[in-house]
Amino acid sequence: MENIIRIAVQKSGRLSDDSLSLIKECGIKFYNGTGKLKSTSTNFPIEFLFLRDDDIPGYVADGVADLGIVGENELVEKDKDVSVLKKLGFSKCRLSLAIPKGQTYPGVSYFEGKNIATSYPKILSDYLKSQNINAEIHEISGSVEIAPSIGLAEGICDIVSSGSTLMMNGLKEVEQIFNSEAVLIANKNLNKEKLAIVDKLLFRMNAVQTGKSNKYVLLNAPNESLDKIISLIPGMRSPTILPLAQEGWSSVHSVLSEDQFWENIEELRAAGAEGILVVPIEKMVI
Ligand code: ATP
Ligand code: MG
Repeated sequence: MENIIRIAVQKSGRLSDDSLSLIKECGIKFYNGTGKLKSTSTNFPIEFLFLRDDDIPGYVADGVADLGIVGENELVEKDKDVSVLKKLGFSKCRLSLAIPKGQTYPGVSYFEGKNIATSYPKILSDYLKSQNINAEIHEISGSVEIAPSIGLAEGICDIVSSGSTLMMNGLKEVEQIFNSEAVLIANKNLNKEKLAIVDKLLFRMNAVQTGKSNKYVLLNAPNESLDKIISLIPGMRSPTILPLAQEGWSSVHSVLSEDQFWENIEELRAAGAEGILVVPIEKMVI
């Protein structure tokens, strides 16, 4: 098993689809039929273990898997000694404290001496310590939102993305205590051969990620405004300028981040740019 790496990904849940899409976008082919717990790529030295996300930090720390994709919430909660190689930008959510809608909330002191239900006892107890609050933590493994209505707790600490689950259960979010996204983690003792494969994988992931956050922009501009337009969209080295069939006009091709595009669009138009096209980039190696 020297020249192959093993990556642990969530078998089925909110991390699975994006984890597997990222790997596919890296050009790595594999088969994952339903119920399959293990799979080997046909074109990259990588083997997949499909697991519950709870088990991923431990498997990577123990070296059963070399790499893993897991939410930061699960990673910090499990408190395992692994390296975080990369933030992956998906499965974004937060851990928040919530209380019944009708209660007035004076601040975090609300929780002093209260019972709080959660699946994240470590993150919650670290937070309460940092706020000098003494509260009773009740660890439950799921359906945490129901705890206040059945009299188990006066508040909960759980994952929130849109807040609609809280609302449905008559709760309101009062403190955000932890922000999370999916991360790529690695065992700390990988040998040279494995590290070389991990580097190859990271190179591909970076190309996919950079591509996603950048756009290819094409526009038409009168020649007299080219200097201004080039200064607005300088691109990777410099933009490509091609003459249009119509005298006095050029087509300008460049790459820029999506945020930058929205910031610059008015200035581009004011400078005379028209026929602006913005095209997605699949991969980008700088
Ligand atoms: P498993 O069966 O593997 O233990 P699970 O039920 O513990 O799965 P999921 O609900 O699939 O976990 O969520 C996996 C991870 O996705 C969470 O730990 C969190 O990092 C992230 N996540 C959870 N809820 C959301 C959400 N609503 N939006 C985005 N990301 C989320
Ligand atoms: Mg889980």
